[in-house]
Amino acid sequence: MTTGFFSHPDCLLHEMGEWHPECPARLQAIEDQLIASRIDTLIERDDSAPLADEAALLRVHTQAHIDFLRNLSPKEGYAAIDPDTSMNPHTWQAALRAAGAALAATDAVIAGRYENAFCSIRPPGHHAEPARAMGFCFFNNVAIAARHALQVHGLERVAIIDFDVHHGNGTEAAFAGDPSVLMCSFFQHPFYPYSGTEHPMPNMVNVPIAARTRGMEVREAIDLLWLPRLEAFRPEMLFVSAGFDAHREDDLGNMGLVEDDFAWITEQVRAVAQRHAKGRIVSCLEGGYNLSALGRSVVAHLRALADI
Ligand SMILES: [Zn+2]
Repeated sequence: MTTGFFSHPDCLLHEMGEWHPECPARLQAIEDQLIASRIDTLIERDDSAPLADEAALLRVHTQAHIDFLRNLSPKEGYAAIDPDTSMNPHTWQAALRAAGAALAATDAVIAGRYENAFCSIRPPGHHAEPARAMGFCFFNNVAIAARHALQVHGLERVAIIDFDVHHGNGTEAAFAGDPSVLMCSFFQHPFYPYSGTEHPMPNMVNVPIAARTRGMEVREAIDLLWLPRLEAFRPEMLFVSAGFDAHREDDLGNMGLVEDDFAWITEQVRAVAQRHAKGRIVSCLEGGYNLSALGRSVVAHLRALADI
């Protein structure tokens, strides 16, 4: 079975100003590297993501949050949410497409159309809390897809892997204390958003990591702290918050990972998925702001997902 690659042209229309690192060129850099690495012919594209419907959003977010964003959506210019996060006239639609791609990928993987899938989407999602947009994020794509797998498809246990350099505070807020979800993450600490270390719930495997840590130490931590918990949990499906800003060339983080480290992490996740979850993984793009490093790292991630 092959790996699905989900995206949508609407995801290019959201932008937060010329200077902003979370920019449409990120998705273009991924497309360029897919072609340059010649793996574009080995994965199956789906650019027809639907708009996520309100029922899917409401499995994670409050009605007030959804209404707030819909009403804030500007007809022209920008509407600010925090100093780093704003909406342009296309953000609302792009955010619904991003969540919609994660939902469509989940449906396709559960239906057996693909063994696993990657969603090349923006805006990202893992900082979006049930009632708050922040940190470049509006709706929590991975959380929405995970809840969809649990509540619509009736799965009993799903795992969420978050290897973005920043802590996925939104995802933690959505699932803390929920025994149907195991979340494994590492994140640079202390660092934005300064969460994840204060008495996490038992279903949160949070691994704070010091700045300038290299890949080998991160691999050891994953081996020691994530993998035994994942084995014991036996997830029926895995979701990945795939941020590539822990790359050593990425200026938004200060960690020392390289493409091989992202490939290794993906191989471990895939092995767990094959043992317990019929191989089912849906991975969604989060951070990653050095365009060259991002493109190369996504290719490494896709190669490991597709085993090519
Ligand atoms: Zn990040």
